[in-house]
Amino acid sequence: MTDIDPSFVPEIIIESPGRINFIGGHTDYNNGFVLPAAIDKKIRFYFRKIDSLENAMIFSKQYEHPIKINLSHIVKSDVIWENYILGVILQIQKLGKKLRGFECVIDSNLPIGSGLSSSAALECGMAFGLDKLFELNLTKTEMVQLSMQAEHEFVGTKCGIMDQFASVNGKKDNAILLDCRSKEYRYIPTVLDPYKIVLLNTNVSHQLSDGQYNSRQDECAEAVSIIQKKFPEVNSLRDVSLSMLEVSKQSLSPIHYKRALFVVQENERVLKSVKALEENNIEELGKLIYASHDGLRNLYEITCPELDYLIDFSKNKEYVMGARVMGGGFGGCTINLVYEDFVKPYIEEVSKAYKEKFNIDLSAFEVNLSNGTTLRK
Ligand code: ADP
Ligand code: MG
Repeated sequence: MTDIDPSFVPEIIIESPGRINFIGGHTDYNNGFVLPAAIDKKIRFYFRKIDSLENAMIFSKQYEHPIKINLSHIVKSDVIWENYILGVILQIQKLGKKLRGFECVIDSNLPIGSGLSSSAALECGMAFGLDKLFELNLTKTEMVQLSMQAEHEFVGTKCGIMDQFASVNGKKDNAILLDCRSKEYRYIPTVLDPYKIVLLNTNVSHQLSDGQYNSRQDECAEAVSIIQKKFPEVNSLRDVSLSMLEVSKQSLSPIHYKRALFVVQENERVLKSVKALEENNIEELGKLIYASHDGLRNLYEITCPELDYLIDFSKNKEYVMGARVMGGGFGGCTINLVYEDFVKPYIEEVSKAYKEKFNIDLSAFEVNLSNGTTLRK
């Protein structure tokens, strides 16, 4: 195979968005509630078929070398980003769908590894593109599911369903209330005027598959198995109420209690946030978002000094209604609801203060709620 020509004329173009999550941190893999939305930062995929039964080549402009794939022999790679693609291809094949040779060029304006779920955007865009290119007739639910499965099996991050779900099902100017237990969802019209959604990227890198993310999952599962001894009907932290948790407190270690308490409280906060949005009560929404960060900091312990600094900074500004860490934690982005007239001065001030404190450049950008994975051509 020769190298891919990035200027080739594509047959189809797919756009796959990243996502924010207003509230509901780490509740997804606990079968709880989340409130994500797809955003106008995306990965774009240019696909064309080639005259081969088993060769595929994918080039990402964000990485140096293309992946060359033998479709009849999909195995894990030592290069992390390749595994997201390989995993998706294998999952599609496991559904009995036939792929043929293709080329794909990927380009992106979605920050990588920052809690905006570039990984899900990558998986879902790949699944969506192959579905369209080869007329596989996959349903959106299948694409969401197989993308998540690819991340579990090929990358080793045991992520919940939220990221892939939001990337595929996003709707302009709406958030999605998703029940990760039943997979039922409801679009929530989201008018934040006069507030804007500002993301601040700490530019501290995290690698979720490195263990902390999975260890929180293990701790939650352990808490469930202890609570189950008194309450056999409990299958996940979603099924636990505050009173059940208090009854079980004696049997739980302080760590298990803290993790469980956070999840139980966070689920309640998500539902209260939906009510606040429906009543156009941005002040209440903001308070819940700040409370979410406090829980993620003190109970769930997935923040870091850079994230906490940014949140403390915003708490001192009366024009920032709410702020919290988004995504897996230990770095990445914070989401901030900022009064529109103050967006520019706020970004300037916080960037300067952050640079002075940590000697790291902050990246800041505004996002809008957008549609999910789409065929552009
Ligand atoms: P997040 O999903 O929050 O961005 P993750 O660590 O879960 O962070 O996923 C980031 C990984 O996804 C990257 O390390 C890379 O392997 C893959 N990825 C994301 N965007 C791209 C891209 N444009 N091209 C190739 N791989 C990408
Ligand atoms: Mg991810």
